[in-house]
Amino acid sequence: VGFEPERRGSHPYLGVDFRTLHSLCNREALLFSFQRHLLSSRLLRGVPHLNPLHILDEDYCGQAKCMLEKVGSWNFDIFLFDRLTNGNSLVFLTFHLLNQYGLIELFQLDMVKLRRFLVLVQEDYHNQNPYHNAVHAADVTQAMHCYLREPKLAQSLTSFDILLGLLAAATHDLDHPGVNQPFLIKTNHYLAALYRNTSVLENHHWRSAVGLLRETELFSHLPVEDSLSIERQLGSLILATDISRQNEYLSRFRTHLDENDLCLGHASHRHFVLQMALKCADICNPCRPWELSKQWSEKVTEEFFHQGDIEKKHKLEISPLCDSEANTIASVQIGFMTYVVEPLFAEWVRFSDTRLSQTMLGHLGLNKASWSALEPEASGSSEEGESEPGRATEEPSSRALSQGSQES
Ligand SMILES: [Zn+2]
Repeated sequence: VGFEPERRGSHPYLGVDFRTLHSLCNREALLFSFQRHLLSSRLLRGVPHLNPLHILDEDYCGQAKCMLEKVGSWNFDIFLFDRLTNGNSLVFLTFHLLNQYGLIELFQLDMVKLRRFLVLVQEDYHNQNPYHNAVHAADVTQAMHCYLREPKLAQSLTSFDILLGLLAAATHDLDHPGVNQPFLIKTNHYLAALYRNTSVLENHHWRSAVGLLRETELFSHLPVEDSLSIERQLGSLILATDISRQNEYLSRFRTHLDENDLCLGHASHRHFVLQMALKCADICNPCRPWELSKQWSEKVTEEFFHQGDIEKKHKLEISPLCDSEANTIASVQIGFMTYVVEPLFAEWVRFSDTRLSQTMLGHLGLNKASWSALEPEASGSSEEGESEPGRATEEPSSRALSQGSQES
């Protein structure tokens, strides 16, 4: 669509010199990756052209517009929408939602800056990642929209909250390298050093989003404390998607629900609910209708196995769930649903017991049964979970957590 094919940022292994990996001195490897990062930064290679959306076939454009009329539907087919928009689903969808909520007008967003921001966000996702690409970001944004419309949220959220929720969803995996944090740490990737091995990916997604906000000056007309507040809150939302911290968020959520003390009149409580909504949106694939859910499952497993192949090739320890010889799509999915997805959605349903929530739980149960039918031996330990989706007290195994941190 007229973009430079060159990428900046976090290639999983372009920034790693595998020859020096097993030696004691990794200083050169780090320097190399920093230099590459600097050389490929957008500042040095100029500004890409704005997206020529007019090249779309008029018929496709009409069908895409038609789909947007049902953007609040849980059956929304983001894969079809992405094809109809010629791979521009994230730009189209986010722009449409910001406009539909009246946020462009309310916050006096400059259309040229906004368009440029969204195109840059979409471009900074890696198309070559089977899963962590702009279509996943668009899917999470669409799910976030569905949750924002739920009565409890719709009645209490401010326009500022909605703006943050949508922006966080659209940028939450920005510049994802297609490998997980343990991989970045064990290959001495510059991102692991930069963020001291802590929420490495999430910190990078956040800082990349802030970089694009500043580069496009999207909020430069707002008082400086407001734009700093947007940046800070965006960080707090994106960092909440770190699945290795899921128990922390989940027990806080559970305590609030047990004590029935969530007061959405308080900004801090609304922010916490937004964090939980984004977490749900991020891992809601197993709660979608089977035809959509299945495609996501295949894509995420492909990404895991690709990482496993790189690890095998470079004689690194193969990460859990990444060995294509030891795992199947079904076994990976059943574990993920049981230990990560079900506990989260069990609490979400307690918070917002609506038709949408019941629909999501229904799909979750059916999808798990479908995977179990495809792989009877993998479902042995999870059969009871099937009839009891909310095994909320169960401790996620490290296996499942490790997968979750990749999937988020
Ligand atoms: Zn994600």
